[in-house]
Amino acid sequence: MKRTAITFLTTVLALVLLTSCGAEETEKNDAGHTHTYSGWDCNVTEHWRTCTDCGEITDAGTHTVVDGYLCSTCRSEIWDYGDGMYDVSMYDEQGNLVRNTSYAADGTVESEYVHEYTYDADGNVLKEVFYVDGVLTGEDEYTVDAEGERLPVRATYYYDDGSSSVQEYDAFGDTVSYIYLDANNTVINEESYEYAENGDGDRYAFRTTSRSYDEGVIYITEENEYYDTVRILKTDLDGNTLRDVRYEYSYDDEGKKTALKRYENDVLVEEYPEYRMVETDEYSMRFPASIIEYGEDGSKTVSVNGDYGEPVSVTRYDGAGNVTGSTAYTYEVDEDDIIYISVQIEYDGDGNVISEVHFDSEGNEIG
Ligand SMILES: [Zn+2]
Ligand SMILES: [Zn+2]
Repeated sequence: MKRTAITFLTTVLALVLLTSCGAEETEKNDAGHTHTYSGWDCNVTEHWRTCTDCGEITDAGTHTVVDGYLCSTCRSEIWDYGDGMYDVSMYDEQGNLVRNTSYAADGTVESEYVHEYTYDADGNVLKEVFYVDGVLTGEDEYTVDAEGERLPVRATYYYDDGSSSVQEYDAFGDTVSYIYLDANNTVINEESYEYAENGDGDRYAFRTTSRSYDEGVIYITEENEYYDTVRILKTDLDGNTLRDVRYEYSYDDEGKKTALKRYENDVLVEEYPEYRMVETDEYSMRFPASIIEYGEDGSKTVSVNGDYGEPVSVTRYDGAGNVTGSTAYTYEVDEDDIIYISVQIEYDGDGNVISEVHFDSEGNEIG
């Protein structure tokens, strides 16, 4: 037992030197040396402080849990797994987790997460720095607005492979930029967000620009005040258009979608002329009552949906507007109230039946 304890103490001392954190405290001993402490150390039953200069151990004592789970002296929470393994979570005076350490049965540290906080005079966290096993993994920076609300300013993360990312926020707490850098600090991805305010006073990202330098492409996504995507533009890094998709919507007085047109490189390729509302006890959903898809050769396909958004017929037209064929679907409801296609009939351009197939609820053909 004694040997285990010594091994354990050595480990903890090394650990403290590696990850000394928080406000340092000092205390003179009899010889005039001033001890420096970076916090408490503990095992399942006891806590103590170790001078980070001379290694002397002081203030050893047994945990005193008075408020349910935290020791009133060292502010640690112990999770004893009963097999020699245990976790220690230490909290600062503000109640924030400063260190979480998992110990193996032989007393060695299996993993350690450290959080360092910077507070303002009102106790708001302005900065939080994260370490995993002594390695810096992230920094979150905050500000406090005039109403006393804490908002993110910047979040920086460091990854195992040496890459990193930086996300920055505006005064509303919305992301304005995100940069991902590889291990050589070369920018690989860059995103920027531009915001506007809609009629309800809510902010929406009317333009998001995403530059991927390794893929050599830029995506610009635009959204309208109803949060619907109105454009996805893909260009090369010089701004030459590779693909341009636009969406045109119609809305009713309540701001609900009533129609949609989708254009590819300014050519109309898809249209929802009308929407329908389905309301059940469980959900309400808007879906297109019909969908028209336009082919490059002037042909088109018209799908008509049923009361629950299920396609009931698909009719195909050639460039001259003549019907070239169609498909009709019949549905049934199985014992689990799941709707399934029970009959599929194919017609030619003159309305003659080409084939009629029946299905069971598993989707198997039954004649
Ligand atoms: Zn000392
Ligand atoms: Zn304690």
